[in-house]
Amino acid sequence: MSAATPAIARLGIIGAGQMGSGIAHITALAGLPVVLGDVKPEALDKALGVIGKNLDRQVGKGAITAEDKGAALGRIATSIDYAAFADCDMVIEAATEKEDVKRGIFKALTPHLKPSCMLASNTSSISITRLGAGTDRPAKFIGMHFMNPVPVMKLVEVIRGIATDEPTFQATEALAAFLGKTTAVSEDFPAFIVNRILVPMINEAVYALYEGVGNVANIDMAMRLGANHPMGPLELADFIGLDTCLSIMQVLYEGLSDSKYRPCPLLVKYVEAGWLGRKANRGFYDYTQNPPKPTR
Ligand code: NAD
Repeated sequence: MSAATPAIARLGIIGAGQMGSGIAHITALAGLPVVLGDVKPEALDKALGVIGKNLDRQVGKGAITAEDKGAALGRIATSIDYAAFADCDMVIEAATEKEDVKRGIFKALTPHLKPSCMLASNTSSISITRLGAGTDRPAKFIGMHFMNPVPVMKLVEVIRGIATDEPTFQATEALAAFLGKTTAVSEDFPAFIVNRILVPMINEAVYALYEGVGNVANIDMAMRLGANHPMGPLELADFIGLDTCLSIMQVLYEGLSDSKYRPCPLLVKYVEAGWLGRKANRGFYDYTQNPPKPTR
């Protein structure tokens, strides 16, 4: 975490959920002041609690000192007011995965920003070109797709919209390096690289379950031990959230008009049942049992 970020002295982050709090954590720990915003004040309080707990874990492991933790927390300012982003050199939007929510944020935010301020979205699937075109600065708009959990996962996908300029791309690459991440550059097509490959594999695993090729335990075991994946595809789907997996398949299906991306009816049924995976305590596994019990 030593590369310089000449273009970015203060980073704004909007959306203080799982992803926004993770991005704030690693940025503050790397030494950059952060402004973290959300519509809900309670989301900001929760984010500071989660960041504090995750920093404590790093102190416990000896990865950082208690002073590092204190300094990192001291670099995070929180606000529900967009005026707090006036001094930022880049703002990363990490709010709910809904296009109208993201558009509304950019519309309300941009009048408060310096003309030079860059904008990034952490969207998993929405077109960067389209989001950028809805702002006053499409040339300074880029996709910066962190992976979950942010402090652990090494990759950031960088997605250039059709209008994104070279200085914005270079500044984003430099920021990712400063945060200790490795980047993969993706063109702006539905679901980018990671989710274009990963989520259809998960969908295929759900088809294998739906058609009775194997049960949950055997499908996950087969891919863990047979393909050396650290998690089976159904276990991974529960971790990501089945609603998120379904919405990425829908973006692929609609965006590429190819029947190979049709969502598996069993995935749709689980989502309709509210069996969304870990966050709902039930998906392909029942998490009220220890160890989690396969539901099929
Ligand atoms: P989350 O539900 O944990 O957090 C979203 C936050 O956005 C909430 O705190 C919510 O209050 C806030 N928010 C909603 N509307 C807002 C508004 N108008 N202004 C400010 N804040 C607002 O979601 P998440 O998992 O952190 O996902 C955030 C983004 O990151 C999404 O675009 C998602 O696709 C992307 N992403 C998620 C993952 C993942 O595995 N969860 C991985 C990579 C990227």
